[in-house]
Amino acid sequence: MKNLLLGALMLIGALPAMAEKPVAIAIHGGAGTILPENMTPERERAIREALDQAVRRGHEVLSGGAPALEAVIAAIRVLEDAPEFNAGRGAVLTNTGTVEMDASIMDGRTLDAGAVASVKRIRHPIEAASRVMTDSPHVMLIGEGAMSFAEGHGLAFMDEDWFITDFRREQLAAIQSDEQAAMQLSEDWYSTVGAVALDRDGNLAAATSTGGMANKRWGRVGDSPIIGAGTYADNRACAVSATGHGEFFIRHVAAHSICSLVRLAGLSLEQAADRVINETLREAGADGGVIAIDPEGRISMPFNTAGMYRAAIHPDGRVEIAIYRDEE
Ligand code: ASP
Repeated sequence: MKNLLLGALMLIGALPAMAEKPVAIAIHGGAGTILPENMTPERERAIREALDQAVRRGHEVLSGGAPALEAVIAAIRVLEDAPEFNAGRGAVLTNTGTVEMDASIMDGRTLDAGAVASVKRIRHPIEAASRVMTDSPHVMLIGEGAMSFAEGHGLAFMDEDWFITDFRREQLAAIQSDEQAAMQLSEDWYSTVGAVALDRDGNLAAATSTGGMANKRWGRVGDSPIIGAGTYADNRACAVSATGHGEFFIRHVAAHSICSLVRLAGLSLEQAADRVINETLREAGADGGVIAIDPEGRISMPFNTAGMYRAAIHPDGRVEIAIYRDEE
């Protein structure tokens, strides 16, 4: 009897640990012609460090019991400040040498979403997107209107020069002097950042932030701020953030297509993400990739380019950081 009582007490003690649901997160820093021979050791180290820092930051937030939405914002803030990636500081330049950024975020629990497009000087465009979701009745604000909204909500602004790195100035000069050569050398042609996460309550979120495509016509908006194309989250299926040639991701509504294949066609996350990236988009001639997560915390990160900057912390705590194709 005494033993039985002791056993019951031990079981009750263990219950909270057993009931604790797993959390997981994945991030990307863009896909493209990313080959070891195009990379300097310093640049590779800086990229791996930033990925490591961002994925751990997001995971810390999840481990503390905070919502997936907060985790994706926390991870993206790190990547927006890292000059190696095409988002926030270090964003690519338009054909007139300016920085115009897009961002979006989606809550898989409610299907609430927020986005900003063609914004300048906002240090963390992802914060602006999040505020559009939580503090306005709208889903997307653009240009001056989005900037005025961000200012009104006390978001940080920086001088335009703060965003522009020498690397991006040289990249634009190379593209504008020889478009053909630049297409080949531009490992950072696609290098948007994104994050997807599953929190302790079983909720999913996705977020994406970008400077768009190098040498884009000013005023051009890609897939990243478009809900369904570059970002999508639905607790019933998955959360997705994309990177790649935005025009194609818009036409094929890439992120939403993956979630629909999971929810309506019964494909696994891996099958769905692979079908859209390696069949639909590849056949259409589009370069790119996605990170995706399902309600069990299964993560899929397919890409049809040479590489994709990516990192994940899986439900079992396994940390994965990779750049090239054959790294696992
Ligand atoms: N998808 C982004 C765009 O087209 C570019 C990228 O992923 O780097 O704006």
